Amino acid sequence: MVKQANDVLSGFGTTIFEVMSKLAIKHKAINLGQGFPDEDGPDDVRRMAAKGLIEGPNQYPPMMGTTELRQAVTDANKRFYGIAVEPSTGVLITSGATEALADCMMALINPGDEVVLLEPLYDCYLPLVLRAGGVPKFVRLDPPHWELDPDRLRRAFSDKTKLVLLNNPMNPTGKVFSLEELEMLADIIIEHDAYAVCDEVYEHIVFGLSRHIPLATLPGMGDRTVRIGSAGKTFSLTGWKVGYITGADELIAKIAKAHQFVTFTTPPALQNAVAFGLNKDDLFYEDLRISMQSKRDFFKNGLRAIGFEAADCDGTYFLNVDISSIGFEGTDEEFCRLITTEAGVAAVPVSAFYASEGAKTNFVRFCFCKREDVLQDAIHRLEKFFAAK
Ligand code: PMP
Ligand code: GLN
Repeated sequence: MVKQANDVLSGFGTTIFEVMSKLAIKHKAINLGQGFPDEDGPDDVRRMAAKGLIEGPNQYPPMMGTTELRQAVTDANKRFYGIAVEPSTGVLITSGATEALADCMMALINPGDEVVLLEPLYDCYLPLVLRAGGVPKFVRLDPPHWELDPDRLRRAFSDKTKLVLLNNPMNPTGKVFSLEELEMLADIIIEHDAYAVCDEVYEHIVFGLSRHIPLATLPGMGDRTVRIGSAGKTFSLTGWKVGYITGADELIAKIAKAHQFVTFTTPPALQNAVAFGLNKDDLFYEDLRISMQSKRDFFKNGLRAIGFEAADCDGTYFLNVDISSIGFEGTDEEFCRLITTEAGVAAVPVSAFYASEGAKTNFVRFCFCKREDVLQDAIHRLEKFFAAK
């Protein structure tokens, strides 16, 4: 008899992204499920990585990250948000934001500590919190406006609250938290003397008049907040897995205790190429924002013409649409399977991002960071399929 593996992780199924991507491949569907761009990011950043791979260095870089990348992350924090961090002690480079999240949970949570999580939540949050022994306390946000309800928020806090894990801009909702909402969060976090772990991987993908405000910039939050970024999103290179955590020296030192035993380092060629990328001028960041916004608008308008109503979306790669708006009466999961297998377009059911009881939704998440001709093809396929119904 083989002994059982870890109970917490074995209790989870395969992540919805993998499930839907496999189904999309099987049915030759356009994959608007898993979030990844279909055009690789800047040529010069990739050339820089290639050069680094050939010319080196290719041996272990320092545990905290290469000097070049830590300096570039420091400079980017100053330039975009006026945040001052020490490059040698306030920045930690990780193998993607996923590793950064795992490090933070391992480093900060003791068994029995309560962790406030906002639903719908990104797939790895709950497993990581539970594996670290944390007790999740959910605050539910609902489509289509994803408002943060002050009473729900307050009910999730107690004397045992250790930290809040905030995703802003938020996947899968596309929500960008307002200053008022962040102030409400900061007040309650300070009142409970808790930490904030802020997953800000979509920091540069924010639309219209919305602005990304890091929670770390609010009064009283600097010393208790860490901010996580990802080169995967900022440079449209999701397979690279280069992440960065910034925060107060004391907090980063604690998180580095986890990082040193999890991955220890990240490929130096990729780190230095990302450093080069982060130093790009404002035009690069503006182009990223404008191009993603135009994809959102193009896709949203196309879906609207078929009759789909969309939830608010002010940032990220994702647009959530109401399947009941075209009269579909099944579940969001059934809808996603149907359109993947029959219409040739894959999406992800939003209920997969809720962990608490009774969280069925009639929304599905589409990833719109694709070429316009691909989005057009997806719209046509959906239009044809639903016209025949
Ligand atoms: N957080 C969120 C909210 C994400 O959408 C993603 C997905 N890319 C990650 C973290 C993981 O980022 P990385 O690929 O850098 O590990
Ligand atoms: N972040 C991506 C998404 O939300 C998926 C990443 C993954 O597959 N782990 O779709």
